[in-house]
Amino acid sequence: MEIGIVVPCFNEEEVLTETSKRLANLIDELVKDKQISETSKIWFVDDGSKDKTWNIIEGLALKNHHIKGIKLSRNRGHQNALLAGLSTAEGDALISIDADLQDDIQCIKEMVSEWKNGADIVYGVRKKRETDTAFKRITALGFYKIMGVMGVDVVHNHADFRLMSRSAIESLKEFKEVNLFLRGIIPLLGFKTANVYYDRHERFAGDSKYPLKKMITFALNGITSFSVVPLRIITVLGFFVFALSALMSIWVIGVKIFSDEAIPGWASTVLPTYFIGGIQILCIGVIGEYLGRIYNETKARPRYFIGQVFPERRSNDQPSTDSAENNKTLQHLDRRNHSSEIRDQ
Ligand code: UDP
Ligand code: MG
Repeated sequence: MEIGIVVPCFNEEEVLTETSKRLANLIDELVKDKQISETSKIWFVDDGSKDKTWNIIEGLALKNHHIKGIKLSRNRGHQNALLAGLSTAEGDALISIDADLQDDIQCIKEMVSEWKNGADIVYGVRKKRETDTAFKRITALGFYKIMGVMGVDVVHNHADFRLMSRSAIESLKEFKEVNLFLRGIIPLLGFKTANVYYDRHERFAGDSKYPLKKMITFALNGITSFSVVPLRIITVLGFFVFALSALMSIWVIGVKIFSDEAIPGWASTVLPTYFIGGIQILCIGVIGEYLGRIYNETKARPRYFIGQVFPERRSNDQPSTDSAENNKTLQHLDRRNHSSEIRDQ
């Protein structure tokens, strides 16, 4: 039973050495306990980092045969980096975890045993959120609330720390959408699921790679790629405004016909103009959001390119004996298989 641990990394030079040490220890322990095979690996995905992340990954991979690196051609964002890793990594089950050691690495043992007990997807769920900043907590709560109202099925307090069996991974690969929101897609796969619970720690070092701008993009992607409720709200809103103005027209005509009190007022002219104008702009904005998504989906650009896999696959892994050739084939396959792209974050 071979597993692969997929770790997306964006400017993570401060944490990588420690993360790889702890993950490698975990792999050793699991191999010793005969839970997983000796061929199990850690796959670090360098998401176009600007710092020394890739050099560190190469160094680690040279020292430890359990470590491999996947270098994306540029920064494509957390979700695409994860997808690149999950699509490339080998193993009967793949576990995704952030590089910053916030998630409890020991939990992976529980995940593996749940998987051996028959679960295809094992979600890592946080018990409490007290290590988060108040801002992160409030935005996260708001996000889950909105997702709930919009009818999107997401596992609460679960980030992208999860185990997926080979069959779940292969099913995930069938989803070709560009506006990738893994947390929404994975519950759609079905299969037998299980949860493991853990306490989330502080980031080991460095700063969050999810500034507000990326968080908003992420939340908008989550909503607009899974729900048409905002469009429906517009329709309902439009109907109410129409009904209201129809009633007002009747009233105005009534005043005009049955009384002499029809004094033209500034407020009654100007305020509705602003009101209707505001609603219109808002509605056009929401429609525009969806239109933008459709635009990107129809272009179906590749979601990522793999620049390099390090170390290259050994020649006996592939039918051809030329390992450089193998790597080229691999990259070519990756280009062909993943034909769509997320909008720049
Ligand atoms: N990450 C990435 N690409 C990005 C942004 C983030 O691969 O464009 C990775 C990052 O290196 C980390 C994970 O995604 O492993 C989660 O990011 P972070 O811990 O900064 O997010 P937070 O925990 O603050 O939500
Ligand atoms: Mg983090």
